[in-house]
Amino acid sequence: MTESSMTPDSRAFRNTIGLFATGVTVITTEIKGEVHGMTANAVASLSLDPMLLLASVGKKARMAGLLQEASTFTVNILRADQESLSTFFAGGWKEPEPPPFQFAGWKEQPQMGMTRLENVLAAIACVKHEILEGGDHWIIVGRVVALHQGEPPRSPLLFYGGRYYQLYVTKEHPAPPRRDM
Ligand code: FAD
Repeated sequence: MTESSMTPDSRAFRNTIGLFATGVTVITTEIKGEVHGMTANAVASLSLDPMLLLASVGKKARMAGLLQEASTFTVNILRADQESLSTFFAGGWKEPEPPPFQFAGWKEQPQMGMTRLENVLAAIACVKHEILEGGDHWIIVGRVVALHQGEPPRSPLLFYGGRYYQLYVTKEHPAPPRRDM
């Protein structure tokens, strides 16, 4: 096993932050009846009171322009077997036919015209709260307005070091309670 330290350049930063394992989401938003989806793993919970989350969206992404206009969006958390959806909504799908997926309305908030992906692990509906500068990305802050948890078993798709993984539990221990919650 070799350790290494390096001067940060964008490739080294990407490779190093890529060692922080995450789940995978598809952000969906709807404008004038048209839904657009984009794969994102730079998503985090931001605040509990008020309930806020953040997503970092590349300024060149189509989603970035749409989110300037949209008033709502949904963060869809993918299941372990939904790697194809992650690749598809990242623009990397090579097959002639798209993988199967369906959009559904949020029955909890029908008046808001929000759309989520069906059969995902979980989904979080947000009203756009603020958009902040973040270098070559926008930091999209959403106020949480509805939550959905899919049917068990709830096993996430994971992203680590530029590859997809599934959770294989060999050890499980309780973490300490978070004092910020
Ligand atoms: P496009 O590239 O235009 O769309 C993506 C694909 O989805 C296209 O093939 C499009 O046809 C299809 N699509 C979208 N909506 C629909 C629809 N309604 N019906 C059918 N097809 C549809 N980028 C970030 O900015 N932030 C991140 O946090 C981030 N995390 C990522 C994590 C992973 C694991 C991966 C693989 C990529 C990540 N990306 C992230 C990159 C990002 O997903 C891609 O750059 C993406 O292509 C940018 O999306 P876009 O809005 O420009 O959409």
